[in-house]
Amino acid sequence: MLKHLLLSILLLFILAPSASAQRQPTTKPQVYKKVLLLMGTRFELAAVSKDEQKALEAIGAGIKEIQRIEALISEWQPSSQTSAINRNAGIKPVVVDQELYDLISRSNRISDMTGGAFDISFAAIDKVWHFDGSMKSLPSPQQVAASVSKIGYKKIIQNPSDHSVFLKERGMKIGFGAIGKGYAANRARDVMREMGIQGGVVNAAGDLVTWGKQANGQSWYVGISDPEEKEKVFSWLTADNLAVVTSGNYEKFAEIEGKRYSHIIDPRTGNPVSGLKSVTIVCANAELADALATAVTVLGKEEGLYLINQLKGVECLLITDDNELITSEDLHLHYYQNKPNPLTSKQNKK
Ligand code: ADP
Ligand code: MG
Repeated sequence: MLKHLLLSILLLFILAPSASAQRQPTTKPQVYKKVLLLMGTRFELAAVSKDEQKALEAIGAGIKEIQRIEALISEWQPSSQTSAINRNAGIKPVVVDQELYDLISRSNRISDMTGGAFDISFAAIDKVWHFDGSMKSLPSPQQVAASVSKIGYKKIIQNPSDHSVFLKERGMKIGFGAIGKGYAANRARDVMREMGIQGGVVNAAGDLVTWGKQANGQSWYVGISDPEEKEKVFSWLTADNLAVVTSGNYEKFAEIEGKRYSHIIDPRTGNPVSGLKSVTIVCANAELADALATAVTVLGKEEGLYLINQLKGVECLLITDDNELITSEDLHLHYYQNKPNPLTSKQNKK
């Protein structure tokens, strides 16, 4: 029913009426928040509690957890175990923490599930494509072909007996740009929940996971707005214990001779993908949602939608380059017409 609605972009935000910080435990729960830069991204952590101290401690622990994960998985930090794996590509296996070993195993399972559209070894291509504004001309097909030959998750050799990881060929490289934030969000949620925080949100620049309820006892809602009129939410998604993650082509890209090239790479061709402007995945697991958002962007609308409709408990919302809006079979959005801006309105219920 939603199909063919014209939109230019998709923006997501969480409806979380902010509490003015109180000094002492209150009888009513409040939501406490902290915003900061982690993993190169604006993270917002929110905790619902009657006890400010407890909420802030939990948020602090969530932040520490994200920093810990970044230090483990970052391919930019030379001291990370991921960097050690990459430095030893084609040379020797590297023994890593079980945690990183398991993240690699789960990544490779998602590669299997998506026919290789998602592939952490895509990172070999970063010798060719740069998305930091430095590229002035297109790489040659020979350069692309040379890097593409280094991509292939089946060449990531894992040895469970000593949890070592070996990239079979020199020039191979792995990177968690499409799954790391989702994993970190899941873990930060777990840490905060284990500290007794019964409701909250971890939001990494619009990629978010929720648990429990809002301070007022209501469900969490994610507003989906029309960027032409960013303040105007055209529909809501009930988001209890749910991750909502978007891969977009409009934030990070290379612009060469007036044309935009996406930072999402098709591992099969080594070239940036096009066709889908934005892919939003909705499911309980932020890590899976993160990886699938990237995979569906690579697969394109037909194959991507087919995949998501096969997966139980996973839904999607796609916007094509032609501004066509497409949803999976069981995505349930709530529609509003001519509602006041919900961020300032009290009528934020369904
Ligand atoms: P964002 O970082 O904007 O949230 P994504 O979650 O889609 O976007 O991740 C995009 C990042 O994933 C890229 O910047 C790159 O680091 C990495 N990546 C690009 N193509 C692939 C791919 N085919 N498989 C796995 N990771 C990829
Ligand atoms: Mg992703």
